[in-house]
Formats: sequence, C-alpha cells, structure tokens
Amino acid sequence: MGRKCIIAGNWKMNLLPDQAFDLVDELKHELKMKPGLEVVLLPQAPLLTFLAEWTAESGLTFGAQTSSGHREGAHTGDLSPELLQALGCRYALAGHSERRQDHHESDAEVAAQAKAQIEAGMRSIVCVGETLAERESGQHIEKIQNQIKAVYTAVEPSLWGEIVLAYEPIWAIGTGKTASPEQAEEIHKMIRNLLEEIQGIQMSQATPILYGGSVKGANAADILGQTDIDGLLVGGASLKADEFISIIQAY
Ligand code: PEP
Repeated sequence: MGRKCIIAGNWKMNLLPDQAFDLVDELKHELKMKPGLEVVLLPQAPLLTFLAEWTAESGLTFGAQTSSGHREGAHTGDLSPELLQALGCRYALAGHSERRQDHHESDAEVAAQAKAQIEAGMRSIVCVGETLAERESGQHIEKIQNQIKAVYTAVEPSLWGEIVLAYEPIWAIGTGKTASPEQAEEIHKMIRNLLEEIQGIQMSQATPILYGGSVKGANAADILGQTDIDGLLVGGASLKADEFISIIQAY
C-alpha cells in the first residue's frame, strides 16, 4: 500500500550518555538504511540534544517518549511539545501503557498530548492496547477502539496524516510473550477497518500501524510480514545494537 516502514526503539528509562553514545555510534556504522524505512530512536528527554548531534546526517531520526498535553506554560516538570520539536524531535510517543499506568493518563489526556505534539510539528505515535484480563473477558476490541476514537476526536482532521498508531498488547510488553503474527494482524486489521470508518479508505490505507511487545530479531520478520503491520515499536531489544540491527534488517 506504499506505507513507509517505521521501526522505533523506545529506550524507556535506560542508558547513561556514554552508553547512549556507544549505541548510536554502533547503529550509525552497522546499519544499512533502506529506502522506505525510517528508524526512530526514543531516548530519555535529557539525551535529546545529544541525539540531535549524534544522528546528524546519519539517516536516523529521534523523538520523545512523552510530552505535555499543553503546548507551553505553567506546567512544572512537564515537557513542552514545542521545545521537543525545536530540539529536532520528528516523533513523540503518546499514551505508552507505562505512562497510562504510572501516571494515570486517561484516553482524553493521551488525545490532548497527541494533538499538542502534532500542532507543534511532530508526528505522534499513539500507543493502544489491552491487558490480559481485558482480552480474556472480551473487552479488548472496545477498549482499543475507544483509545483510538479519542485521538481522532481531539485532532483536527486536516492533521490526521501525522498520527501513527502502535498496537501494544500490555501482556506482551517486557514479558517475553509476543502476540503471534496472526493475533497481531487480527487487531491491526480491526484497527484499519475502524480507521476506514473514521477517515475514509484512502487515509486509512496511508496510516502506519506499528506493533510492539517483546519484538526480537527472531520474530521481527514474521510480524513485519503481516499485511496491516507497518513497523515496530521495540523496547528492551532496542538497547542492544546487534539485536536492534537484526530487527531492522528483518525489514
Ligand atoms: C515498548 O516499550 O513499547 C515495548 C514494546 O517494550 P518491549 O519490546 O520490551 O516489550
């Protein structure tokens, strides 16, 4: 469908500056960038200015793990999306399940973050997904649909093209349990159908939908081979250059 493949490495709350430098350095030297592929690094916010310097002219892009739902102002401790964009962030995550859980971020708060990120000039990678209990009780579809609808309600239709979705089943994040490629594709197809209802067939076919949850070099190709999976959001495995490179080479 001509959608670009996006592979994003979420470093979470890991890596000191020298460790981050070594990782970026290895990626720059070992990675063979391919047309149609975008590799995005998501470090902790204090590393962003270093990333701007280290990734210059490398083909790698970078972004933030979260940001405020406000663009600027009296919100002590929060991250201004305008500042992140000015530092060179092309992307920002909104609603990672660890943020939704640790900081009680509601669907409305996540939607406000996505809106502010996009209005500041970044693409927003909005994370959605269910717990194991929600899946087992059959509530997962409704939960994911509500998470998505909140974002498309908040963001101006003319800016919908800047939304990237990431399906991350919470039971697969950091647990070593990956959704099977078929399980993941089933949800991605459901999301694509919902997007078609919201924004019409043309835009729904253009929206990238990433998968995340214990992706490794060993399972990346099977997951990426699914029709409606357009890329990956990788946590733990993005901290090791060789593992992250083998995931990227699976594209
Ligand atoms: C994530 O942090 O978004 C993630 C998918 O983590 P992991 O790959 O470690 O499961």
